[in-house]
Amino acid sequence: MTAPKIEIFNGSANLKAIDILGRAINEIGKYVPGARGRLNPMGADFINVLKQRTGLDNGMYDAERMMDLAFTREVFSPKTQKIILLDNLISQQGRNVKGMAGGRDDERQAAIISTDNLGPSQFYAVCLHEMGHMYGATARDNQITINNGRHCVDEECVMHVPGFNQRTKYKMENNSDMYCRPCQDGLRSL
Ligand SMILES: [Zn+2]
Ligand SMILES: [Zn+2]
Repeated sequence: MTAPKIEIFNGSANLKAIDILGRAINEIGKYVPGARGRLNPMGADFINVLKQRTGLDNGMYDAERMMDLAFTREVFSPKTQKIILLDNLISQQGRNVKGMAGGRDDERQAAIISTDNLGPSQFYAVCLHEMGHMYGATARDNQITINNGRHCVDEECVMHVPGFNQRTKYKMENNSDMYCRPCQDGLRSL
């Protein structure tokens, strides 16, 4: 397992996005010791190149193709975890998604996260969710398949669906742990 450093490619013009992602990294750092973010200085240019080649007719960007393409580039080496941050609509298998992430058992531990249409709290929850995938939060026996992904059975857990529902929102507002206990254990077992 590589060191839990997260390389961030920031293609978002939303100035709050990077701060919110930073808060989410601090939160996951409670369970993944040493998790911290590092901005790649070539991030915005790199994402522009990816966008030029992954645009779809419906105005969205193909997140899977974007991920494939990113990993063909030297700057996207598999040595660290990676997060691509952008403001555009992205799709996975034809469906609009908020984010997409490779899991811990995958070769590619990387996530694409879009700020599109998300308020700060929702975006924070999506960051926690996609990073949870990246670090294998649901790698154990608490998982069900939702939207072709491994998700948590606990409806109050941020790994149940991307973003928050009423129950996770309540937890967030009350500063409760966003990851349920089995998901925390999954993160700690890294
Ligand atoms: Zn998910
Ligand atoms: Zn959970």
